Amino acid sequence: KRTPFIAGNWKMNLDHLQSIAFVQKLAWSLADARHDFADAEVAVFPPFTDLRSVQTLVSADSLPIGYGAQDLSAHDSGAYTGEISGAFLSQLDCGYVIIGHSERRTLHGETDADVNAKIKAAHRHGLVPVVCVGETAEDLEAHGPSAVPVAQLRAALDGVDGSKGLVVAYEPVWAIGSGQAATPAQAEQVAVALRALLVELVGDEVAQGTRVLYGGSVKAANIASFLREPNVDGALVGGASLDIDEFSSIVRFKK
Ligand code: 13P
Repeated sequence: KRTPFIAGNWKMNLDHLQSIAFVQKLAWSLADARHDFADAEVAVFPPFTDLRSVQTLVSADSLPIGYGAQDLSAHDSGAYTGEISGAFLSQLDCGYVIIGHSERRTLHGETDADVNAKIKAAHRHGLVPVVCVGETAEDLEAHGPSAVPVAQLRAALDGVDGSKGLVVAYEPVWAIGSGQAATPAQAEQVAVALRALLVELVGDEVAQGTRVLYGGSVKAANIASFLREPNVDGALVGGASLDIDEFSSIVRFKK
């Protein structure tokens, strides 16, 4: 009952002209392959400056590709130089917004409290947050596989109404951009722990309907092995989402 979700996080790659070409070619590739979007939903997460162009293309051609931003402000408007309001993102018909990516946490000092406030901001504007959690190699050594991601998700969801929509992405920091993906069994173990926490925090019905993604060195060659795990419902793809053929193959994974 959870439709697999393949999400491409472009990070700081592809300008607005490149974004149009990319999304158009991705749509052609999936149409050529007769991809059934009931088998896997697709969304891309371009830089902010691309979103208006992506919206224009997707709406003009009615493309079956979702999109969202990589971050948003916890505030709705005001004197926050350089920040982007969820109100602006929903004006651009974004469906989703990534929140708490490990690069935001480590390079921009985002705390669990910031992540929590941003999730509430996303919900105020009708956006579905893609909440990222994951442990470093040191955390894994010190605390085992699921303690840190579970603690991050617990803090992230404090006072959050899960029925407003939620996607969780488990991204072990040591697997991001390293070529060293987690094993499917490792991803499943953490996904099970995250879902158990969701049951506690948002109730069984919402928890069973919430997609838990795996991210970290996902490629066409390993995607099927992750999707065979019962609690892994898709992937948040970084580097491999920037190659149309590779990303299209990931979307069309066969279990
Ligand atoms: P890679 O797929 O490049 O490892 O990046 C994962 C990621 O951070 C997606 O958000």
